[in-house]
Amino acid sequence: MHNDATTKILLSESEMPRRWYNLVPDLPTPPPPVLHPGTLQPVGPEDLAPLFPMALIEQEVTSQRYVDIPDAVLDVYRLWRPSPLFRAHRLERALGTPARIYYKYEGVSPAGSHKPNTAVPQAYYNAVAGIRRLTTETGAGQWGTALAFACAQFDIACEVWQVRASYDQKPYRKLMIETFGGLIHPSPSELTAAGRAVLAAHPDSPGSLGIAISEAVEVAAQHADTNYALGSVLNHVLLHQTIIGEEALLQLAKVDAVPDVIVGCTGGGSNFGGLAFPFLREKLAGTMNPVIRAVEPASCPSLTRGVYAYDFGDTAGMTPLMKMHTLGHDFIPDPIHAGGLRYHGMSPLISHVYELGLIEAVAKTQRECFEAGVRFARTEGIVPAPEPTHALAACIEEALRCRETGEEKVILTALCGHGHLDLPAYGRYLAGDMEDRELSDETLAAATAALPRVPA
Ligand SMILES: *Cc1c(COP(=O)(O)O)cnc(C)c1O
Repeated sequence: MHNDATTKILLSESEMPRRWYNLVPDLPTPPPPVLHPGTLQPVGPEDLAPLFPMALIEQEVTSQRYVDIPDAVLDVYRLWRPSPLFRAHRLERALGTPARIYYKYEGVSPAGSHKPNTAVPQAYYNAVAGIRRLTTETGAGQWGTALAFACAQFDIACEVWQVRASYDQKPYRKLMIETFGGLIHPSPSELTAAGRAVLAAHPDSPGSLGIAISEAVEVAAQHADTNYALGSVLNHVLLHQTIIGEEALLQLAKVDAVPDVIVGCTGGGSNFGGLAFPFLREKLAGTMNPVIRAVEPASCPSLTRGVYAYDFGDTAGMTPLMKMHTLGHDFIPDPIHAGGLRYHGMSPLISHVYELGLIEAVAKTQRECFEAGVRFARTEGIVPAPEPTHALAACIEEALRCRETGEEKVILTALCGHGHLDLPAYGRYLAGDMEDRELSDETLAAATAALPRVPA
C-alpha cells in the first residue's frame, strides 16, 4: 500500500547514501574508448593529467561498481542533502490524472541546481592533489556558481570564463560567483591566446561555450598549480550525480512506489544520468522495469536528430574525441532560454545507453516547456529553471495519457534547479514574446558535415 497523504518524502542524514554508482560494469557492452585527436588511439591517464587530478581520471575509467564518497565531501553535501522528494499532488489534481508524479528537488543546493553534487568532489580531489586554482567555462552561469561555491569550501581559487552574451545579459550569476569568491571574465577575453585570436577577428564576438572552454583549458594547461573542471558530459561527473538517483530509490521505497516512467532533461546528460542510472541498475537486474526517457530541446536535439560519431567536446577542436550523439562541434544552437541544454553533444555514456536501447528520447519546443513550467509553479509553488521545464512538459504529457487510459502510473523526474535567476525568461513567455523556431534539415546537415574522420 502506498501512502497517498505523503507530500514530502525525506531521508535523515544517516540514511544518505555513502557511495556513488558506476553503471559501466553492469552494461552488456562497454562504451567505446575516448580517442586522442592526433593519434586516434585511446587516451591514457597521462594525456589527461595536465587538466585533471589522478583521482578523477581513475573515476573516469573505473570498472568498480561503487566509489566511496569521501567524508569531507559528505560533510559539504549535508548542507543540503539528502534533498527532498515531493509527490506533486496539486499538479496531479490540476491535470485530473490517476498517475502519481514524484519530483526530486535539487534546487535546494547552494547554487540552486544539481551542479554542486559534482563541483564539491571535483574541488575536493583537486585540493587534495595540491592544486591551488580551478578554471572553467560557464554559459548561463549555473556551473560557474556551483564551482565557485565548491572551491570556497576547500580554499582554492576559482576562475570562470563566462560566454560574453550571458555575462552582459545575466548579471546575477556573475554576482553570485563573485560573492562565493570566484573570479569571472567575459569570454572571449584578452587573457588567453584563444580569446585574443577571436577578438582580433571579431571584436564584438558574443562568445560561445566552445570559445570559453578553449580559454579555461589554455590557462589550466599552462600552469602546474591549475586544473580545469567540467560540469557535465564526462563519466566522473555522471558518477557524482548518481547520489540523486540513489536517494530517490530509498525515498520511493518509503512510500512503496516503483517508477513506471522516469523522465529527465538532457543538456550534457548529468542530471538525467544521475537520476536514472541507479534505476537502470535495477532494471538490468530485473527488479523493476521503468521506461526511461530523456527530454531535449527541439532546437538542440543531439539524441533525436544528431549522429552517433566521434566528435570534439569543444568548438575549437582541442579536446579528445568522444563517441557521442552530436550535432557537430561547430553547431551553434538557437539562443533558447534553457542555456544549460545548449550543448552540441551528449554524454558518451548516455549516448551508448541510448544506442543499446535502454533509454528513449524526445524533443520539446520551448513554449510548451514554459507552459509546463508556469503550470508547475502555480500548482507546486516552485518556479523551475528553464532546463527542467523540458522534463516537466514530458511528465505532463505522460500524466495526460494516463488520464485517457486510466493507468495509475508512477512517474519520476528530477527538478534539477529553480528558476529564480531566470525570471526574465518567464517574463518573455508571459508577455507572449517567446518564439519556437524549427531547426532545419539543411542547418543540421551542414553542421554534421564537418565531423572529424575516424576510421571504424
Ligand atoms: C547545467 C544544467 C542542466 C544541463 O546539464 P545536464 O548535465 O544535462 O544536467 C540542466 N538543468 C540545470 C538546472 C542546469 O544547471
